[in-house]
Amino acid sequence: MENKSSSNFLKNIVNEDLKLGKVDHIITRFPPEPNGYLHIGHAKSIILNFELADEFKGKTHLRFDDTNPVKEDTEYVESIKEDVSWLGYEWDNLFFASDYFEEMYERAVLLIKKGKAYVCDSTAEEIRRMRGSLTEVGQKSPYRDRSVEENLALFERMRQGEFKDGQKVLRAKIDMASPNINMRDPVLYRIAHATHHNTGDKWCIYPMYDFAHPLEDAIEGVTHSICTLEFEDHRPLYDWVIRECEMENVPHQYEFARLNITNMVMSKRKLKQLVDEKVVDGWDDPRMPTISGLRRRGYTAEAIRNFAREIGVAKADSVVDSKMLEHFIREDLKLKAPRTMAVLDPLKVLITNYPEDQVEMLEAENNPENPEMGNRQIPFSREIYIEQDDFMENPPPKYHRLFPGNEVRLKNAYFIKCNSIVKDESGKVIELHCTYDPETKSGSGFTGRKVKGTIHWVDASQAVPAEFRLYEPLILDQDEEDETSFLEHINPKSFEIVQGFVEPNIESSKPQDKFQFFRHGYFNVDPLSTKQKKLIFNRIVSLKSSFQLPK
Ligand code: ATP
Ligand code: MG
Repeated sequence: MENKSSSNFLKNIVNEDLKLGKVDHIITRFPPEPNGYLHIGHAKSIILNFELADEFKGKTHLRFDDTNPVKEDTEYVESIKEDVSWLGYEWDNLFFASDYFEEMYERAVLLIKKGKAYVCDSTAEEIRRMRGSLTEVGQKSPYRDRSVEENLALFERMRQGEFKDGQKVLRAKIDMASPNINMRDPVLYRIAHATHHNTGDKWCIYPMYDFAHPLEDAIEGVTHSICTLEFEDHRPLYDWVIRECEMENVPHQYEFARLNITNMVMSKRKLKQLVDEKVVDGWDDPRMPTISGLRRRGYTAEAIRNFAREIGVAKADSVVDSKMLEHFIREDLKLKAPRTMAVLDPLKVLITNYPEDQVEMLEAENNPENPEMGNRQIPFSREIYIEQDDFMENPPPKYHRLFPGNEVRLKNAYFIKCNSIVKDESGKVIELHCTYDPETKSGSGFTGRKVKGTIHWVDASQAVPAEFRLYEPLILDQDEEDETSFLEHINPKSFEIVQGFVEPNIESSKPQDKFQFFRHGYFNVDPLSTKQKKLIFNRIVSLKSSFQLPK
């Protein structure tokens, strides 16, 4: 796979480390917690870690950071593996943090023996209150001076399950007056009587992220541990754990800006809320910013990779316009997706001067921008469907589509002229009667006269019924000051289903086949098509955009 990302500060660091001989080869890791499905923000981290290692002939581990049994599940493990593979990356090793629980426990015992950790009976609330603030030093725990022997015995009893959740914790003994609040005796272990997806009921104490993560990196020999900016203040603690636990490998943590995109929530917790509260139809709902949702919507791995490379790796948080993501899927599909016609809101047209019982096959290019995609044959006969929108009985000025007395071109076919209208009892137009001009066949070189409008159509006798699902952003944008929950900003019109027709050529298309429907945009065959035995298309993105890549 081509790796086109440009230079960034992490590459400079790695380059320097290799040059100075600080490391012989680099190891990065992507460390998701299996507590939800991956979203496009994770894709940025995946692409960054795998491509950085790849560029410097290093390795990347996929490591499940599964230290919180309550929220984790093997369903998430499986989905994460699938998504990383689908994005196009192969991990060199697959690890589970939970496989290191025994070693982590031993390292905690080492800290206790060195007088660097103690068992504290304070409640979570008390610990929070005694931590102090940016302007106030913290208060020492009354349990801080327990003897090494007492701490060893209590920690062992914690492991044996003698205490209830929250009754005791193991804390690092660092500095309650540190200007960095993370260094004020952080909690290293907590009690949780819960069944773990990997270790079952073997453990009832679990390491906290700040203790577990550096150990995981060190155990695996990770050299460059890349995380998002909010962990910058945790770096001194990361280094403290590595040093005090006397780890042989010394990994280093580097931070980069997390990806935010307009109109998208980018947090597993919030996405899970959308799923649990049935605001969406599962993690892979095509409106979700999850990898599985984007895939079902019709995004390609290549488009996501190119998007991630373009936004690059920065040190400052920013919000990327969702139009940029759309730009990359259009770019990717432009030459790849066959172009064909679909009518989403059909209006029947009878061509009164076309012979009854005649069907002719018209030749059309599959992709005028990519001649290699060849041609196809489209049936044409006396009855066709056009879009309701392409006809107006009383058009405004400059309307160039069909109206009584006007002539338009049918894409790939003939000129037709509207002569009369059929209405139902309510006055709604249900059919048009038109005539066609056989001289005007597409590709015949006809130059007799010009028309201003070209509209698309499908042959009524052979058209294949299809369902089209049209999407708008799920979340309406919020001001930064707006404190209301994102759930109050759900777009009530994020989803519309319409029934129409496609050309018979694509009748046998399969889930994940992608097309450009003339004038409507890019569409993807939804996996439900197989089960429901009918064609269901998700609109990936419309055709037009004013978006331009920054120069
Ligand atoms: P969330 O808040 O959505 O649960 P997380 O950071 O808690 O995200 P993890 O499973 O812990 O989720 O993340 C795995 C990796 O993905 C981490 O290294 C994290 O820094 C990175 N990551 C998560 N969200 C983003 C984002 N929006 N942009 C870039 N990287 C991200
Ligand atoms: Mg997390």
